[in-house]
Amino acid sequence: MMADDTPLAALGRAMKARGFEYIGRAPDEWLEFHGAIKAAGAAHVACLAVDPSGLELPRIRVELPQGAPDVLAHIGADGHVCYAAKGSLVLDIFDIAGQTLACIDRAAEVLDLSLSGEMNKDLEDEFFAFWHGDICILDVYPGDPGNLDVLFAGRGDHDSHIAFVTNDVVRTRLKLKAMSLTEGELLAGAAFRVRTSAKPKPLQGAWPPPTVAPLLQWQGLLDPSARRNIERRLLVAYASGRRAALCVVDSPLTQYAFWVAFETANPPGRRSAADARVQLYASKAYPMIAVRMDDRYVTQRNAPGRPTLSGKKIALVGCGTIGGFLAELLLKAGAGLEDGELALIDPDILFPQNIGRHRLGLNRALQNKAIGLKEELAVGAPTANIRALPVKAEEADLTRFDLIINATGEEALGHYLTVTFARRGMFVPILTVWVEGPGVAVRGLLRDTVECACIRCLSELQRAPLYPVVNEPVPLELAGHGCEGLYVPFPASVSIQAACLAAEMVTDWTGGTPGPRLRTRVTRPGFTQAAPDADVARRHTCPACGT
Ligand SMILES: [Zn+2]
Repeated sequence: MMADDTPLAALGRAMKARGFEYIGRAPDEWLEFHGAIKAAGAAHVACLAVDPSGLELPRIRVELPQGAPDVLAHIGADGHVCYAAKGSLVLDIFDIAGQTLACIDRAAEVLDLSLSGEMNKDLEDEFFAFWHGDICILDVYPGDPGNLDVLFAGRGDHDSHIAFVTNDVVRTRLKLKAMSLTEGELLAGAAFRVRTSAKPKPLQGAWPPPTVAPLLQWQGLLDPSARRNIERRLLVAYASGRRAALCVVDSPLTQYAFWVAFETANPPGRRSAADARVQLYASKAYPMIAVRMDDRYVTQRNAPGRPTLSGKKIALVGCGTIGGFLAELLLKAGAGLEDGELALIDPDILFPQNIGRHRLGLNRALQNKAIGLKEELAVGAPTANIRALPVKAEEADLTRFDLIINATGEEALGHYLTVTFARRGMFVPILTVWVEGPGVAVRGLLRDTVECACIRCLSELQRAPLYPVVNEPVPLELAGHGCEGLYVPFPASVSIQAACLAAEMVTDWTGGTPGPRLRTRVTRPGFTQAAPDADVARRHTCPACGT
């Protein structure tokens, strides 16, 4: 069928040796073979399709034996064997024959374990290969009780609308606005959630279940109590005269959903309970893919098992080149959510020449930095509580915060804050982050207890550094033309690294592992870190914190 020296010719020979016969090309040009796969003590007729480019995994389908269980792990309704998730095998396009034989072996193993009921892992990821449908987006915290609303929205009036399931329409509307979506129909109370202990598995036979009857039968095989709950909730929804209901199933680790369009062939009102059940069972069911968009999930999914910044009251002093990028990272880590607050404090105006290394662009020029940053970031994080304080740090009440971040690059402000709190007998944790010289290194110092070093503790009384940043002399570079004022030049890439360091130190502090409290990242080639990252003790002769 092919020239002898090509990978496809080698494939043909290898498949023949394995007992597979070449059938021809499928409509998508894939090469089809017929043969058998041995599993669970029997040979199963198998059909194989191989991508001639070698970029995709072969499709493998088997004929299941009579009496095989209805619900089989990793086996789809049509006998399709899900033997590897896309991306979980490294493909070798130069050895299509070898990789196809390896896939047959893998499929045989999966089939063997599945038929013997020993495979129960990874089912949830794999289930979605067999559960296709429209997306519904959940803006609900898991386990929230009661009925949920379904709000449709789309991009423009004519697009097909996406269903948003929510327990707080006001909050979801804020998000839809941020997504520039046009709101459509609101079906109040049209959705409900059912919890199950069973991981979803596809059913052999008619799949997905076309109506409520086989859907309930399938759920009954997975978890009888969940099946009863689903039926009860659907009957209530049907009796209340709804035309449809959306059910979200909370299974361990994930959710899936389905939409039921109630059968209304007979006029409602004069029907018995038995009639209602018959009508319900005949109602059409549509699988839906449930995707979470609640703030807690969005924040936690990138740091599973670790606390986020939600609920924390954080004051970010300085919304310049470091603070701008840092504010964004803090929001992504959950700042301002769930009764938390992110206060942005800066009295300065953003000038057009600042934007070369600022988070904000020309659209915010000549605006106060704190206000511009708040307005810009609120567009993408509409549910976060962000406050802009266009004042100097000395004029703001910083005592009510859980954490103050000094990103001004002004060491004197750090001394001022430390000594002011100390004199008033108060303490608020302070994280200081700064760029060393003209972008040689970035550094962060966390003072989360009274006994930790303050920023002034890092140098002796005559200001000689006790924890030198690099082994080489730090060059003095200043720039500035005309009345612009002098500034230390370093690019945005250095500010972003400072912001990243600070964001890591904040999340480590929240996670209960605040050390090392003095951290350095060298950012310019040719320099080497001098003082190692460490927890630094307070100097009792320090003029700032020793008062
Ligand atoms: Zn000190």
